[in-house]
Amino acid sequence: MKVVLQNLTKIFPSRDKKAGKEVVAVNDFTFEIPDGQLVGLLGPSGCGKSTTLYMISGLQKPTSGKIFFGDDDVTELSTENRGIGLVFQNYALYPHMTVMQNVLFPLQNLTGKDKLSKQEMLDRAYEAARLVQIDELMDRKPSELSGGQQQRVAIARALVKMPRVLLLDEPLSNLDARLRLQTREEIRRIQKETGITTVFVTHDQEEAMSISDVIVVMKAGVVQQIGEPQKVYDDPKNLFVAKFLGTPPINVLEGAVKGGKVYIGEEAVMEVNGVEDQDVYIGIRPEGIEPNANGALECKLNNVEVMGRDASVVATHEASLNPVIRAIINSDIKVDTTAETIKFNIKPHKFFMFNKETEERVYFEVK
Ligand code: ATP
Repeated sequence: MKVVLQNLTKIFPSRDKKAGKEVVAVNDFTFEIPDGQLVGLLGPSGCGKSTTLYMISGLQKPTSGKIFFGDDDVTELSTENRGIGLVFQNYALYPHMTVMQNVLFPLQNLTGKDKLSKQEMLDRAYEAARLVQIDELMDRKPSELSGGQQQRVAIARALVKMPRVLLLDEPLSNLDARLRLQTREEIRRIQKETGITTVFVTHDQEEAMSISDVIVVMKAGVVQQIGEPQKVYDDPKNLFVAKFLGTPPINVLEGAVKGGKVYIGEEAVMEVNGVEDQDVYIGIRPEGIEPNANGALECKLNNVEVMGRDASVVATHEASLNPVIRAIINSDIKVDTTAETIKFNIKPHKFFMFNKETEERVYFEVK
């Protein structure tokens, strides 16, 4: 089921009429989520991702704009009638009910043509439970389950009604690091197996990138970029997106383009075609610089952190906006840690420029 968001806008009125301003939580969001895909809504706290999800779910009404599930305009439909499954950060299971009763619950209130026989309900509940691998735990109470297991129950409960669209709001936030990793892989598997169009909200870029077919990066209610995770990482439209994706974060330095050369401080680090003279921010991915005696970028060397397969060369530069510059290199590469300075080669495809005023990408050809 494709989901279409058409000029979706949500404005919250100010609470304090004197001092407060209204909040534009989501601003003119248009996007078609293809059938069967997992879309990650991603951005810092307050960027409007939960509000977008709540509008898709019907928990909040858009101020303007429309929402379609397939060809059905669902903008005015109530949450119950949209055919969605919702999973929240806090699992919100009924504590006095067993896992089985929790999973069965959404089916018990179905009426009319949707009403199911007892056997049909049990079959559906077991099918959902098997999918999320909790079928051995059906007689337990939520308090007798781990956090990861509770979240699986919540997912089974969302799936049991065979939703047209699955909506997940920070479903992994309450889990510890290991369980997060395991559960996100589970969510991906379940989504692929069921083929349900899924929208997943998170502030964790790594989480979104690892499981999404498509990510939507938002900032202050405005969509910044939409695309396949790797494409967005490799081709960010603006400085915000470049900085938001990637760990360790992208190195950002002040620079300038003059006469076809890119300068960082006094050093010309690259020759480029097709760019007018201007002040820029330069973004270089940590995997985009490597130590080289003839490299164009000279930095002060702080230290080298070896992390098994990789090593992180930590350096500083006067033009850097980040406290340190990091290069991620293969740990087999030996770096003279007694040296005061280090020179780096820059890989052009990991090197981005952004106009200093607009922070929009400045595209160039390497000479
Ligand atoms: P988080 O990750 O912190 O949940 P988010 O990206 O999901 O953030 P939203 O919860 O969608 O952000 O909020 C977007 C903006 O709308 C924020 O500025 C928030 O303060 C505001 N907002 C959200 N809900 C309401 C509300 N019911 N009334 C007024 N303002 C609201």
